[in-house]
Amino acid sequence: MLTRTALDQLDRDDPLAPFRGRFALPPGVVYLDGNSLGPLPRATPGRVAEVVAREWGEGLIRSWNDAGWIDLAARVADSIARLVGAAPGSVAVADSTSVNLFKLLGAALTLRPGRCVVVSERDNFPTDLYVAQGMAAFLGGEHRVRLAEPGAAIDATGDDAAVVMLSHVNYRTGAMHDMAAVTRAAQERGALVLWDLAHSAGAVPVDLSAADADFAVGCGYKFLNGGPGAPAFLYAAPRLHAGLRFPITGWLGHAAPFAFKTEYRAASGLAQAVVGTPPILSLAALEVGISLALEAPLSDVRAKSARQVALLAALIEQAAPGIFRRVTPDDPARHGSQLCLSHPDAYAIMQALIDRGVIGDFRAPDILRFGITPLTLSYADLWDAAATLGAVMAEGAWRDPRFAVRGAVT
Ligand SMILES: *Cc1c(COP(=O)(O)O)cnc(C)c1O
Repeated sequence: MLTRTALDQLDRDDPLAPFRGRFALPPGVVYLDGNSLGPLPRATPGRVAEVVAREWGEGLIRSWNDAGWIDLAARVADSIARLVGAAPGSVAVADSTSVNLFKLLGAALTLRPGRCVVVSERDNFPTDLYVAQGMAAFLGGEHRVRLAEPGAAIDATGDDAAVVMLSHVNYRTGAMHDMAAVTRAAQERGALVLWDLAHSAGAVPVDLSAADADFAVGCGYKFLNGGPGAPAFLYAAPRLHAGLRFPITGWLGHAAPFAFKTEYRAASGLAQAVVGTPPILSLAALEVGISLALEAPLSDVRAKSARQVALLAALIEQAAPGIFRRVTPDDPARHGSQLCLSHPDAYAIMQALIDRGVIGDFRAPDILRFGITPLTLSYADLWDAAATLGAVMAEGAWRDPRFAVRGAVT
């Protein structure tokens, strides 16, 4: 039997507890959706206001040099590199995750001429699949996407496969791949590997160098707390840089953008992955979020996350026994930083929870998803979330017809 008192003690002993005060969380809310949109760091509004009023308002165009705007994306990229075990210069920050997937799929297919298949998993995040489908349709000919059942991508990697594209942590189930093992197996079959770190970066230890990964992408607005629509990132192993060719070549990826030459000449390394003018306001916000993430030892974050996933599952089972089916693997080595439970009425149940200030999300067709963000989530929050869910189920509160109305964004 877990008690509220025991959880309060865990909060008192928690080395990450001071981070909570660095975020502006509204009172009365238990936020279990930081894996969809990370919460607002307290330092962000001031920093963004400063960039707007002083750097833009007063500095005007001089700020590209004087305020370091032209180097901001590379600076943020090197911070992200530290979070994901990448060498300096092997991460670029630009565009959205979707667009970066397109850029890297194009580069991967170019590096494997004669191989026309992109292998992925059927339950990968839809945008990853859509981008691959779009790339195959654009290239035409033999190009196609092959979708394997979850966990079976390597079996589907034949000698026609150019690239295996996988989410490290599955968005819907929280299941996590063994990055090093899958990378090795795909490479043994002659394919390149492209990892989507949307639910990994800042949440679980990732070592792209040690895993010898070829490519990766990730999101700035989830565990990196960069704000809605924050720029995304991409990674390419340094051993691939010399031969990289991206399917979109823009002026800021040119070796000398301000020479304004007619012919494109790629900047060295991953600098060519930046296509157009970077979004400075968004980058300024993202830099604050990443600096915060870098202050917290990732091993502490991971340990607390694994503990919170297990505790939330146990607390929910205690508050609402036998009602939900756990979808997230039990073994912490096999899951990311979320707890997913299935129930046929998951949508209405989640709406009823949100109505009572416990914010998670619903993922079709039947999943209640609870994101675990150890920098902001206390152990007492878990108690409150489980107790609220228990009450919603006991009272049948979710049966209220207003909770069946679907919003545009779930
Ligand atoms: C959130 C997420 C994305 C988001 O892509 P955007 O282009 O930033 O909208 C992509 N892939 C995965 C696996 C995600 O979880």
